[in-house]
Amino acid sequence: MSSAASAPAPVPFNRSSTLGKELQNIAEALLGGQIAGDQVFTRRCQALLEHLTGSRQALLTTSCTHALEMAALLLNIGPGDEVVLPSFTFVSTANAFVLRGAKPVFADVRPDTFNLDEAQLEGLLTDRTKAVVPVHYAGVGCEMDPILAACRKRGVAVVEDNAHGLFGRYRGRPLGTFGALATQSFHETKNLTCGEGGALLVNDPAFSERAEILREKGTNRSQFFRGQVAKYTWVDVGSSYVMSDVLAAFLFGQLEQWERVQAKRKQLWDYYHLHLADWAATLGVRTPTVPKHCDQAYHMYYLVMPTLEQRQSLIQHLRDRGVLAVFHYQPLHLSEMGRRFGGKPGDCPVSEMAGDCLVRLPFFNDLSTADQARVVREVRSWSGR
Ligand SMILES: *Cc1c(COP(=O)(O)O)cnc(C)c1O
Repeated sequence: MSSAASAPAPVPFNRSSTLGKELQNIAEALLGGQIAGDQVFTRRCQALLEHLTGSRQALLTTSCTHALEMAALLLNIGPGDEVVLPSFTFVSTANAFVLRGAKPVFADVRPDTFNLDEAQLEGLLTDRTKAVVPVHYAGVGCEMDPILAACRKRGVAVVEDNAHGLFGRYRGRPLGTFGALATQSFHETKNLTCGEGGALLVNDPAFSERAEILREKGTNRSQFFRGQVAKYTWVDVGSSYVMSDVLAAFLFGQLEQWERVQAKRKQLWDYYHLHLADWAATLGVRTPTVPKHCDQAYHMYYLVMPTLEQRQSLIQHLRDRGVLAVFHYQPLHLSEMGRRFGGKPGDCPVSEMAGDCLVRLPFFNDLSTADQARVVREVRSWSGR
């Protein structure tokens, strides 16, 4: 009893919280009696996303994974096609294209930002390349100028996996507006959430009409409801990528609080950066790099330990003291599936190093000052071995 009482509750790695009118909105949606997709809260979320990003069209989806699948369908990706993406990313970045029969071509990432290394891109593009999928890791923009230039030269589409990057900017322009298509995630672990959810940003109007159709089971239902066609019928392939308005109601409550959320996350990020700088320098631990021309989205705070052993030791040290820190992506080219596409050790050395050495600290919207101070204290108490 006494020991249980004296041990403080663990600091989780992530926790979702309500920020504003989420519950009220859900009640309104339920009482309104229309909880399928594309109802009032979906429309509000989409309008707000369009306003905040400057994208032409935002379509809510059941997940970022599904938005990436929609991108692959829109680009008519098929067997024999190649899609270039970073090895250091979430599986969905690759899977969405592999599902259509494409071969993923793994690029390594830059050692400073862990973003797709633009210097390698030209060498990876072939006559078969249909798309390049940059991921703005930790919400810090990829080098979009050279990436867009290389893709434009060869007529290759760019799909931004912007799961981390909502509200981030590259040279002043919002992330998610550079590619013909971009995808957002509202998974529980992201800055704003509805548990599971996502969005497709359609920046190139050429994809607009078909995006609506693919998302609505291959029907022209959206056009029908706008009175643009007399009948609603099956016109193309498609699937069910529409988010329930109950989730959109929750999401709208979160989206409305975006400024407060981003300010809080900036404060959390700055606190870690300030209070771990001297400790990190002493032990040869690397802290995040944010280039001057990038406004980051404050998605996460990470440390890069000198070795795998030290990374595991720090995670264990923190766990023993009630602080949950986690490693991040295991490089895709070394995964069971990635090896089937020819991936082997040494192909992407920076991704391999990041997979071994990176550790993410607790980072969520209602992390208290006291808990964050405790995380810093416990990190600093690690001996270095
Ligand atoms: C979270 C994430 C996804 C997948 O998001 P879901 O909404 O869970 O499908 C895709 N790519 C990256 C980089 C992510 O971090």
